Amino acid sequence: KVRTRIAPSPTGFLHLGTARTALYSWAYARHHGGEFVLRIEDTDVARSTQDSTDQILASMHWLGLDYDEGPIYQMQRLERYREVIAQMLAAGTAYHCYCTPAELDEMREAQRARGEKTLYDRRWRPEPGKVLPPVPEGVPPVVRFCNPPEGDVTWNDLVKGEITINNREIDDLIILRPDGVPTYNFAVVVDDWDMNITHVFRGDEHINNTPWQINIFRALGAQLPEFGHVPVILGDDGQKLSKRRGAVSVTAYEDNGYLPEAMLNYLARLGWSHGDDELFTREQMVSWFDGSHLSKSPAQWDAAKLAWVNAQYIKAKSGEELAPLVAAQLQKRGIAADERLPAICALFKDRCDTTVALADWAAGFYADINVSDADRAQHITDAVKPAIATLAEKLTTAAWDKASIAVIIKEVLATHALKMPVLAMPVRVLVMGTSQTPSLDSVLEIFSREKVIERLKKA
Ligand code: GLU
Repeated sequence: KVRTRIAPSPTGFLHLGTARTALYSWAYARHHGGEFVLRIEDTDVARSTQDSTDQILASMHWLGLDYDEGPIYQMQRLERYREVIAQMLAAGTAYHCYCTPAELDEMREAQRARGEKTLYDRRWRPEPGKVLPPVPEGVPPVVRFCNPPEGDVTWNDLVKGEITINNREIDDLIILRPDGVPTYNFAVVVDDWDMNITHVFRGDEHINNTPWQINIFRALGAQLPEFGHVPVILGDDGQKLSKRRGAVSVTAYEDNGYLPEAMLNYLARLGWSHGDDELFTREQMVSWFDGSHLSKSPAQWDAAKLAWVNAQYIKAKSGEELAPLVAAQLQKRGIAADERLPAICALFKDRCDTTVALADWAAGFYADINVSDADRAQHITDAVKPAIATLAEKLTTAAWDKASIAVIIKEVLATHALKMPVLAMPVRVLVMGTSQTPSLDSVLEIFSREKVIERLKKA
């Protein structure tokens, strides 16, 4: 049975790159009728926080990436890691190392001076006929893994194809720290083994860790999972997407008015393709995502394309569907929406690429607007003021629906011998604070009569 997992470290928000890997892992499991596990890798005690875990879980939930098991916390599995360490020490596939930081520095310094790669020199590794140094007092040991000193580690990467790394490139890594907390490369193997993970998708910054992990799997006699290393996401500037270059957390996009289905769609396409399809549902992705067509080269983050994708999803929703999302945005601004909001959303959704932009429009119906001096000077001329006054006058008694309002506007135009734009522009500016709005009758209809007349009188 296919079992995949995502294993974020709770040292910050859910990064877009991790969200994409989670999406691939999730879709792969769903495609194969398998299971998807969420594991929280919280062994970096100093940097892990509950707040971050909460944020990661919330983002997973928002994206709709449901998991069958988890969250499983590594810090709750310490006993299990120590048990495996004890077995490895007994089996001779791991050993204690009593090197002090100063000794290690000295070792690396000497290696650098000789122009060699800085690798642990295995001085504490037990070997036939070798005499180990005397155990020093007061130095808490670490446990190191007996990495095979020779030979190649090769795997057929699901994304990158065959990868080979020679064991001479890597050393006997530390698997247990003096404080009894395991290191990433060890805990990840015990977990993937215990959790029967069959396919590991993760960022390609982990490629150099994989040979160690494969060697540990083998030392444990465990079945190897398949590995797929997904290339990084680059920002517009060709550098790795990072906080300094704009929003990189899932939460930020949620806050900025993106829809989860649009995020999933965009993230899926970022490094994976299905023909020329740009827009697809979650179900389509699951039925298509078989691990093929994953790109080997880095993907480029394209904010404009994401906005376009989001706009398509907004357009496809009804005013009723959008209203609660926009209400949440308005609430953040201290604005309480009412039953008019679905109609407002329906009227403006085609011109918005985020729900924040929709909220900007909706705010004009609920809160005071600003008419800029420039708009005032340009549109509200003395020539048009009498017509605006007539309109305000006639609207006091009009039936309040789109058709009746349209008739009144026509009458005012006829009375004052004006063309539509000459009247419509200043009225838009006065009522909504901008001259770029949908048709006047449809906008006015949503306002209360009192509000429209009050704003028109400001001419
Ligand atoms: N905690 C690791 C990370 O967030 C997990 C890597 C892995 O999937 O093995 O990068």
